[in-house]
Amino acid sequence: MPDCLFCKIAKGEILAQKIAEDDKTVAFLDIHPRAPGHAVVIPKHHSETLLDLPDDDVAALFLAVKAVSRRVLSALRADGATIGINQGEVSGQTVPHLHVHILPRFTNDGGGSVHSVVSNPSAEPPEEMVERIKKQK
Ligand code: AMP
Ligand code: ZN
Repeated sequence: MPDCLFCKIAKGEILAQKIAEDDKTVAFLDIHPRAPGHAVVIPKHHSETLLDLPDDDVAALFLAVKAVSRRVLSALRADGATIGINQGEVSGQTVPHLHVHILPRFTNDGGGSVHSVVSNPSAEPPEEMVERIKKQK
């Protein structure tokens, strides 16, 4: 994608603080870190969401997330991590090229859990929800 910021970073056309790279992925420090060592891992293949990414690239992406998080968390001596994707504008995605955030977490860092991003439970009984989901391909 010619106008995509993260494609440009993947190709080296825009500089980033790269911390790891392989043939299918690149990891770099977030330019506006929300925690020490806040990193993002992206596939080199342009995809807006996880659902658009070919399976081989999905596998490579999550293996990279595992390897990069091990190194980042160890370097930062973090107590834990929040690892996640903002998918779609509604969730806060601002760069339309799939990226996985790795946020090192520390005791008493003042942050919340994944549960704190939304509180909008459904009134639908879970059994009906399960059936509705299982019907989808
Ligand atoms: P999201 O809101 O999930 O789309 O996150 C996009 C992330 O990309 C934000 O955390 C930004 O700080 C980060 N970001 C934007 N531009 C750059 C850049 N040039 N280099 C590194 N990170 C960037
Ligand atoms: Zn892209």
